[in-house]
Amino acid sequence: MFPGAERADQSTTRRIRRLPELLVNQIAAGEVVERPASVVKELIDNAIDAGATRISVDLERGGIELVRVTDDGSGIPPDDVPLALAPHATSKIAVAEDLDRIATMGFRGEALASIASVSRLSLRTRSREQPGASLLEAEGEIVGAVQPAPGAVGTSVIVRNLFFNTPARRKFLRTQGTEQGHCLDVIRELALSHPAIGFCATTDGRAVLDLPPNQSPRERVLAVMGKELAEQFVESSADEMSDARGLALWGMVGLPVLARATAKCQHVFLNGRPIRDKTIQHALREAYRGLIEPGRYPTAVIMLEMDPGAVDVNVHPAKAEVRFRDGSMVHGTVLRSVREALSAADLTPSVNSAGFGAARGYRPGEETAILPREGAPTGEARANAFVEFFARTVPETAGRLSYDAIRDAMNKDVAAAAPAEQPAPVSQAMEVPRPADRLLQVHNSYVVTQDEQGLVIVDQHALHERVMFEHLLARVGAGDLESQRMLMPAVVPATTRQVERLQELAPLLKRIGVVLEPLGPAVIGVQAFPTFLFDRGVDEAEFVQGILEKTDDEGFVPGGEEALAEVLDMMACKAAVKAGNHLSDQELRDLLKMRDLVERGSNCPHGRPTSIRLTIRELERRFGRS
Ligand code: ADP
Ligand code: MG
Repeated sequence: MFPGAERADQSTTRRIRRLPELLVNQIAAGEVVERPASVVKELIDNAIDAGATRISVDLERGGIELVRVTDDGSGIPPDDVPLALAPHATSKIAVAEDLDRIATMGFRGEALASIASVSRLSLRTRSREQPGASLLEAEGEIVGAVQPAPGAVGTSVIVRNLFFNTPARRKFLRTQGTEQGHCLDVIRELALSHPAIGFCATTDGRAVLDLPPNQSPRERVLAVMGKELAEQFVESSADEMSDARGLALWGMVGLPVLARATAKCQHVFLNGRPIRDKTIQHALREAYRGLIEPGRYPTAVIMLEMDPGAVDVNVHPAKAEVRFRDGSMVHGTVLRSVREALSAADLTPSVNSAGFGAARGYRPGEETAILPREGAPTGEARANAFVEFFARTVPETAGRLSYDAIRDAMNKDVAAAAPAEQPAPVSQAMEVPRPADRLLQVHNSYVVTQDEQGLVIVDQHALHERVMFEHLLARVGAGDLESQRMLMPAVVPATTRQVERLQELAPLLKRIGVVLEPLGPAVIGVQAFPTFLFDRGVDEAEFVQGILEKTDDEGFVPGGEEALAEVLDMMACKAAVKAGNHLSDQELRDLLKMRDLVERGSNCPHGRPTSIRLTIRELERRFGRS
């Protein structure tokens, strides 16, 4: 008989049969237990549900050899101990309606049974009423009898030799180092969301984490994320509990410099449970739009509290994904509160020993190096400040830094929007600590100044570009940009496709004051050009070519706001002073004044920083004064 025939033969007589319990559990384990980190997560979840105030985790060989989780929680009464390892046995829900208001970390009652089916598990537990502990050991299918044993109140679960009886699964484990990393990620994540619980962890006998109980959420975030990052975080909050929407948010979000290439730096929790949620990721990215480069992820810890009835957590075996009843409300709340926190904060990164992202050692009580820009104009006041600022400075500012057109447009705009009754906050806002009188331009590219915290170095092009960008944005909001007809159309070579798309592009171009016409199958003529760019000697053909190239990008939707922002950004970039341009003292002063007026002065439209700061404290440290 040739290979395979036997199998084919068997299939014809296959009968339906109930799977043995071990196999059922092992299949369930496939969903719940993927690697040592999943064991760590399930065991810590149980400890949290048991009301533990201290949880310790010991790992050997990345958790592959051993995971031990010990807690000081409620323990399990002796009679219930065998049930703990039985599938679908849980103390957390009893009736179907409970599923609508799950407030515990676990509820499926399958974690311990699943883990026991693929490991050598030992459970030692003692409830408060008991004089001693109970010990139960299991190895795959074989579950022992409950034995009395010594032990403190609480529970200690040891999981040895994970996947010892399922070699196929064992093969998928990575190196010890990788598995250990995943385990520690899980511990940190759960520690972040439970600042009242003390956590400690060892790997192969070495202490790697020690977090005291009863920390404030803020202390916990800093302790877990690295105290040296203290001054690179902004606190954010929203409380919508009051208006019956039932959502509260607290978070700490990192300065743009802390953005990373993967979403691993984002920790989102819903009612204490770590979740991955696309809606929230998207809201975070939106909040940082223009502050970080596209494709990077802002570092963030976001805690959401919400009525368990308003969210379905039972859509994913490891409960990492959830379904919100009102996703857009959650999106809006995250976006708004993070955006508010960012715009109220000074986002200038500090330079320090390890470069960006790692600041001086954190000392308790000395927490806010991230100062809200006190007295900085907001909303209406900011708009007025723009107008007044330009009204005052334009006459004495020549050439590259003149904004006649903008001032007029803004004047018109703001006069229409708000009667000129409230100039009061403006002068107040203008009193914020001014930069040094003498400014130093370094290599015709950077401007050195000071503020209340120390020394500030500004990238002249990046800052000017940001300023221009915000102005253009404000102006386009008020109406199409002013444009100038060309005496002779500038001629731009183009692709056939670009010529074909002109029609589609026309409304966008009209908003920025550009008029294009096909002059032939592969030639475009520039009939009108924005005065703003014209005045700054920007080459028409080059600029238009840049726009045409942008439109070739996939994802460029000519009608969208994003496309408009991109095009305005191009204008801002072209019109801004370049690195290498010498600026007069007056120009330098004007440029720096604008820094306080623009909303996102800390970053250029591409998300690169416009300025960096060397704090006095850091200087003192470096000169050995402290
Ligand atoms: P679930 O957490 O979904 O209920 P598990 O299989 O993780 O299911 O645990 C089964 C039951 O065992 C729990 O409902 C709980 O009653 C008990 N248990 C497990 N771990 C602990 C612990 N560390 N402390 C107290 N009770 C525990
Ligand atoms: Mg559980």
